[in-house]
Amino acid sequence: MRLTRYFLPVLKENPAEAQIVSHRYMLRAGMIKQQAAGIYSWLPLGYKVLKRIEQIVHEEQVRAGHIPLLMPTLQPADLWRESGRYDDYGQEMLRIKDRQGRDMLYGPTNEEMITDIFRAHVGSYKDLPLTLYHIQWKFRDEMRPRFGVMRGREFLMKDGYNFDLTKEDALHAYNRHLVSYLRTYERMGLQAIPMRADSGPIGGDDTHEFLVLAETGESEVFYDSAVTDIRLGARDIDYDDKAQCQAVMEEFTSLYARTDETHDEAAFNAIPEARRKSARGIEVGQIFFFGTKYSEAMGATVVTPDGSKVPVQMGSHGIGVSRLLGAIIEASHDDKGIIWPEGVTPFHCGIVNLKQGDADTDAACEAIYKALQLAGLDPLYDDRDDRAGAKFATMDLIGLPWRITVGPRGLKNGVVELTSRRSGVSEEMTAEDAVARIGQIYAGL
Ligand code: ATP
Ligand code: MG
Repeated sequence: MRLTRYFLPVLKENPAEAQIVSHRYMLRAGMIKQQAAGIYSWLPLGYKVLKRIEQIVHEEQVRAGHIPLLMPTLQPADLWRESGRYDDYGQEMLRIKDRQGRDMLYGPTNEEMITDIFRAHVGSYKDLPLTLYHIQWKFRDEMRPRFGVMRGREFLMKDGYNFDLTKEDALHAYNRHLVSYLRTYERMGLQAIPMRADSGPIGGDDTHEFLVLAETGESEVFYDSAVTDIRLGARDIDYDDKAQCQAVMEEFTSLYARTDETHDEAAFNAIPEARRKSARGIEVGQIFFFGTKYSEAMGATVVTPDGSKVPVQMGSHGIGVSRLLGAIIEASHDDKGIIWPEGVTPFHCGIVNLKQGDADTDAACEAIYKALQLAGLDPLYDDRDDRAGAKFATMDLIGLPWRITVGPRGLKNGVVELTSRRSGVSEEMTAEDAVARIGQIYAGL
């Protein structure tokens, strides 16, 4: 993309309404525009990152054997009357009447609807295990929408639902989700720690929240600092291997790590003092096992191998896709702007032309731009007729992890400059080498 043809409405001033750094930078970098409290338009740069995050979530869900579908944003109230949640859910639910006077709602979550799909089409243990998920907009009429996309009213969520014959199988689905989530967050350059939590209005027995540690987080958390040393990394996972998924779950959840709702002072105090930490965290996901809570209420049964009929065992699993943009920025920025991890960056590399209009410099930039595209990469070329300082400031603000700077002085010696946004370190090399390096960096992602 050439910047002169793009739509990147960056702001020079800090917007007064933004209290935290991620909200400030998302507005300043022209990623989002607020349309009403907690409701945003996603401008091109923000939309690009949102799509990258969504793509990683899809890839890791499919890798775990889960199946994508798409349910609507509007739901009939009658489904929620069956589960008893229409009255229980409270004021966070946006209730609507259609022209026939029928009660509808904008979905805050989809347990009822997915259970309805299941009972219409599945009746036998032979069709299990089954996990269906979608990535769809949700609406919750939050009391205090704030911090930009972190606590929106309309927000994008991945929500998945497992259906299993036995509790043991459903717990395997729980573990499988836990492992796939760890991998999902690590690919985004994030450490999200699973912490024992409270189940809230979803209901259920087992639940973990995934928290990114950040001062601006809304959750209070308590943990053994040794949990921050564990990584999933590149290990090979067989998602059908129950013992392996269970072992990873235990490895990540045996040490003390809890949100304030389930915090246990005595257990916490048993940790060696130097490792006892309390901090703030951003909830970027949650997994639940709730057994037959919905299947019993809504009549979702399956025939077992011995011919009897039992309600299906279920769980639900959510990732805050749009909240993740804020969480990643909270975890990765400096005073100049955002620093995108390579896994989610909107463009792979920026190209800064230091002397627009100079024939040789323009030609060198064009060649690099084309070579990067030929290598399957997505560069952003700042081809505006502007000062170098202004171009660097924009690149730093929007946070592309790599920048190639091209100017007449370097070209005289046959070199361009490759700069890492994270370390700030620049290296001189030929244009070909710079393109090759960028290619290598992204090859494994
Ligand atoms: P919270 O406690 O932050 O209100 P929740 O526990 O009610 O969230 P879940 O039902 O667990 O939310 O939804 C799954 C994920 O969706 C959450 O882990 C979070 O990342 C995201 N999410 C929930 N509410 C919002 C919101 N208002 N804005 C953006 N993302 C949200
Ligand atoms: Mg939650």
